[in-house]
Amino acid sequence: MFERKSIQLEEAITRLMKFAHPGEMEHLSLLDALGFYLAEDLVADYPIPPFDRSPYDGFAVCSIDTVKATTHSPSILKVVGEIAAGQVFSGTVRKNEAVRIMTGAAIPEGCDAVVMIEAVKEVRIGDEPHIQVRRPLRPNQNISIRGEDVRQGKMIAEAGKYINPGLIALLATFGYEQVPVRKKPVAGIIVTGSELLDPGEPLEQGRIRNSNGYMIHAQALRVGAEAVYHGKLSDDLEVNFKSIATNLEKSDILITTGGVSVGDYDHMPEIFKRLGANVLFNKIGMRPGSVTTVAEKDGKLIFALSGNPSACYVGFELLARPFIRAISGASHPFSPRVTAILGKDFLKKNPFDRFVRGKLDWKDGMLFATPLGLDKSGVVSSLGDADCLIVFLKGKKESEKGEQVEVILLDYEESISVGEFSSG
Ligand code: AMP
Ligand code: MG
Repeated sequence: MFERKSIQLEEAITRLMKFAHPGEMEHLSLLDALGFYLAEDLVADYPIPPFDRSPYDGFAVCSIDTVKATTHSPSILKVVGEIAAGQVFSGTVRKNEAVRIMTGAAIPEGCDAVVMIEAVKEVRIGDEPHIQVRRPLRPNQNISIRGEDVRQGKMIAEAGKYINPGLIALLATFGYEQVPVRKKPVAGIIVTGSELLDPGEPLEQGRIRNSNGYMIHAQALRVGAEAVYHGKLSDDLEVNFKSIATNLEKSDILITTGGVSVGDYDHMPEIFKRLGANVLFNKIGMRPGSVTTVAEKDGKLIFALSGNPSACYVGFELLARPFIRAISGASHPFSPRVTAILGKDFLKKNPFDRFVRGKLDWKDGMLFATPLGLDKSGVVSSLGDADCLIVFLKGKKESEKGEQVEVILLDYEESISVGEFSSG
């Protein structure tokens, strides 16, 4: 028997995050970069807008020509030209002249304000178009000034930022056809258990379907990893050892389920020994997922998750998900946490930190988190509805409906991950 020393989740995360080195940089075309993490700081190499421009359809004027304008005695300006978006006015605008201008067009030389089309009366004097301006304009009124949006040299996005549609817009604005991103890690997945049948196989007495393999694969895909499923293996030490050793070489991280406990066919501890891997921890003071083990070999991590579906799920979410995000280049790898109201009593005692699968509801302007179904690590039924983990810290007594609880979000866009983890 080997020894298991239980550590706190926070300590487990600290130990494994020491091995979280972002992958290599690669360049992807603009749209392909969606969902990746930026590998370099993005600095504005020119100001936005790059020239003074009109935010409205209207008339570019010189504000000084309007200082005396009133409803009864409007300033009358001669319209000497027209500028559509994308065009520049080549003429000069003289005293008491205006230029018809469209949204987005450059303000002509000599003008310093724009009067909106709705605010003027267009009149003809003789054959020539004029406008009546009924209120004075201030210098720079209704002008988008060069650089008002982004100053040249300003940091627009830091390396490690998730590339969402808004950042795609910024990258396009600054002319990035190719975007420097961090490569997504290859996450190898291996499932162990002689009792396991795949979904296509008919049920047999004493055997169960392999849900973990598909679940972990989906969880790895959800966090954006390049997930590679290496199949399910029987509980054969040699077979397991070989598969883990060879597939670790092909992966950036390896995730296994099953065989990590203390049963006769739980081979993971022996496999780590044979691999010469450095076991970072093999017991965490939490439920479910207390047997979650992480080992390191040549700088790569192997996450050995419990075979119990709920424990496997929670182990992935709390440990593997932030790690995958970190090696994907995220500067903020942890799942967001919010405060919610407990939707029903949770009367279990908490000798350990407990992460209970829950469902979020928005009701009467408040966020409720309700524990789901059977809270046992072996159950699968509560996983389908789970969109959060409700945190009950060690030592917390019974919790009643209506209490405030902290919840970890599960179904959210990766972009809203946070920078720090705390178990409390
Ligand atoms: P183990 O961690 O191998 O001791 O397995 C713990 C429990 O989880 C046992 O009841 C297994 O039958 C079950 N189990 C293991 N692997 C899977 C899997 N891939 N899918 C569903 N249940 C599993
Ligand atoms: Mg097993």
